[in-house]
Amino acid sequence: MTEKFIPLIDHRQYQANLRVPTHLEEPVGKLADTLGRPLHDLRISVTDRCNFRCVYCMPKEVFDKDYAFLPQTSLLSFEEITRIARIFVQHGVRKIRLTGGEPLLRKNLEKLIAMLSAIPTLDGGKLDLTLTTNGSLLARKAKSLKDAGLTRVTVSLDALDETIFQRMNDVDFPVSDVLQGIEAAYEAGLGPVKVNMVVKGGMNDQQIVPMARYFKDTPHILRFIEYMDVGASNGWKLDEVVPSAEVIRKISDAGMQVRAIDPNYTGETAARWRYLDGNGEIGLISSVTQSFCQDCSRARLSTEGKLYTCLFASHGHDLRALIRAQDEQNSGHSDLAISNVVAQLWKARGDRYSELRSENTSEFPVTRKKIEMSYIGG
Ligand code: SAM
Ligand code: SF4
Ligand code: SF4
Repeated sequence: MTEKFIPLIDHRQYQANLRVPTHLEEPVGKLADTLGRPLHDLRISVTDRCNFRCVYCMPKEVFDKDYAFLPQTSLLSFEEITRIARIFVQHGVRKIRLTGGEPLLRKNLEKLIAMLSAIPTLDGGKLDLTLTTNGSLLARKAKSLKDAGLTRVTVSLDALDETIFQRMNDVDFPVSDVLQGIEAAYEAGLGPVKVNMVVKGGMNDQQIVPMARYFKDTPHILRFIEYMDVGASNGWKLDEVVPSAEVIRKISDAGMQVRAIDPNYTGETAARWRYLDGNGEIGLISSVTQSFCQDCSRARLSTEGKLYTCLFASHGHDLRALIRAQDEQNSGHSDLAISNVVAQLWKARGDRYSELRSENTSEFPVTRKKIEMSYIGG
């Protein structure tokens, strides 16, 4: 047997030195980065732990019993998360997605959801508050999540075939439990449920058509995700990416004709396609073959409070240090001070990793250090 060596550098230790500007300005909800992109979307990772070991995300060889997950004291508290979220909403964020690791493993998550759902948007409306989950605990929790104020849910499911699914989650988790979670979420009013399928060539690509057939004629929206080169532990290879164009071809060849339809809003990650017979919709997330950096309005907050302005960023900005800092009078920074730091970071943002990867220019950061998906969230 040949040994597999997977290099992994712990970028979580990086400390960014954030400075509060001397002149503070009130947020007006209209930030733009160096490419003119607004800040509309905040993804919050609530845990770096997971009960699955998906081969493309948390391979067992790396995330084994000796892996050092973050200690409890490192995690942002619900109060800290809510405080940061409120600051982001004042800058124009309308949509918050909870993710992880597996977000449903975070204790009392419903309490956090209730706190976040009480934050009004800038125009006094309700936030779009969603969550991405592997579905393992969803059947049990769907109703309490809805009651707490969750708007919608996205469930990851990579195959219907038991052997293939279990090979992908690598913990022998059964398909039927995830399917029950999807139905429970729909019944609880968390629909339309989006179902995320990461397509990894040679592993689950033969499941594209069965998955399309299963979710066609249902209220759920199946989304095919191109396998991405996130992190350093999954041993990503370009030839394992199944381009979205091929997914569409396979579905059409199987007699399910589709046509492209308009996005719901600018910056939507999934391209929408509708079945010609009118019975349902699918989404294609082509992070590798058709980058969508141009409209990317997403910021990510890690479990321990680091702000990442791109999924492929090599370091985060330590907001936790800022909110936990105390001066001689034992008082911390004001919301306005933190708000100005966030504004400063967003205005300086120029990330467009996927675009550079597709252009394959000399600017393409091949040697760049990347953060793990399970740490930063999808
Ligand atoms: N544990 C939850 C779940 O699986 O839904 C939430 C966190 S997970 C990191 C978020 C999403 O990222 C999932 O839909 C997962 O399939 C996707 N993902 C993880 N690694 C990926 C990769 N290398 N390429 C594409 N998508 C990936
Ligand atoms: Fe866990 Fe989600 Fe990563 Fe799978 S994709 S290992 S379920 S965090
Ligand atoms: Fe956004 Fe970075 Fe992904 Fe581009 S590569 S779409 S900037 S997260």
